[in-house]
Amino acid sequence: MSEDGAADAHPRVALVTGASRGIGRAVAIELGRLGHPVACGYGSDADAAAETVAAVEAQGVKALAVAIDIRDADAVDTAFGTVEGALGPVEVLVNNAGITRDGLLARMSDENWSDVVDTNLGGAFHTIRRATPKMMRARFGRIVNISSVSGQIGAPGQANYSAAKAGLLGFTKAVAQEGAAKNITVNVIAPGYINTEMVAAVPKEVLDTKIIPLIPVGRLGTAEEIARCVTFLAADEAGFITGSCIDANGGQYMA
Ligand code: NAP
Repeated sequence: MSEDGAADAHPRVALVTGASRGIGRAVAIELGRLGHPVACGYGSDADAAAETVAAVEAQGVKALAVAIDIRDADAVDTAFGTVEGALGPVEVLVNNAGITRDGLLARMSDENWSDVVDTNLGGAFHTIRRATPKMMRARFGRIVNISSVSGQIGAPGQANYSAAKAGLLGFTKAVAQEGAAKNITVNVIAPGYINTEMVAAVPKEVLDTKIIPLIPVGRLGTAEEIARCVTFLAADEAGFITGSCIDANGGQYMA
C-alpha cells in the first residue's frame, strides 16, 4: 500500500463508459489512482471526456478519451479497436453509461422506452459481447455493470428505466455463469440517489421533501462512493465474487 492509500495493483486496461461526468468520471479517476490505464468512454461530450482524461493522467497513468455510442454495435466495435490499439485489450469493463427519460407509462413514447432500454441494457450487451472473447482467451476479466435501486424496487415515472436496470440484474447473473470458468467475473452495483447531473435535474424541493426522507443516512450518495464499489469488484483479488450485486443506497432499500 502506498502512502496515499493506493494499492500497488497489477495494472489492468480499463474501459469505463459514460466517463465524461458523474459516476463514470469518478470511476475512471479512482481506477487511475490505483495505477490502471483507463479508456474514458463518452457519448457526445468530448470536452468533458478530455477533462476526465487529464484528471486520470495527472495521477501518472495513461488515459484515452474514446467516443462510443453504446447503443450501436458497430460503434462499440470501432471504439474497442481504438482502445486495443492504444492501451491493449480491455481487462476491466465498467458499463456505467446510462440515461433517464422519465414520464408516466400512459404517456410514455415508444422513443423514450427504446432509448432508455437500448442505452442502459442494450449498451451493456454490446460492450460485453465485444469484450469477452478476448477476456476468455486471456483467462481474466472484470466486468462491473451499473444498475440502480429503481431496478430493484421499481420507480413510478421510470417504468422504462426500472425495466432496463432490472434487466441488467438478470443479465449480469447469466453472463457471470458463462464467464466463471474463465476467471471473468461479472457483477452489478445498484446505487441509490447519487449527487450527479442526473439527480440535479430533480427540483430541490422534491429532493428535500420526497427523496432524502427515504434515505436512512439522510443524504445523497457521492460518485466517489460508487467508484469505491467498482474498484473493489474490479480488483484481481475479487475473483471469488461473481453474479453479485452491491447495494449502495444509504439504506434506502435492503435486499
Ligand atoms: P450522468 O451524469 O447523466 O452521465 C451519464 C453518462 O452516460 C455521460 O457520461 C454520458 O456521456 C453517457 N452516455 C449517455 N448516453 C450514452 C450513449 N448512448 N453512449 C455512450 N455514453 C452515453 O449519469 P450518472 O448520474 O453519473 O449515472 C451513471 C450511471 O449510474 C447510469 O447508468 C445511471 O443510470 C446510474 N445511476 C445513477 C444514479 C444517480 O442517482 N445519479 C442512481 C442509480 C444509478 P455524454 O455526456 O458524453 O453524452
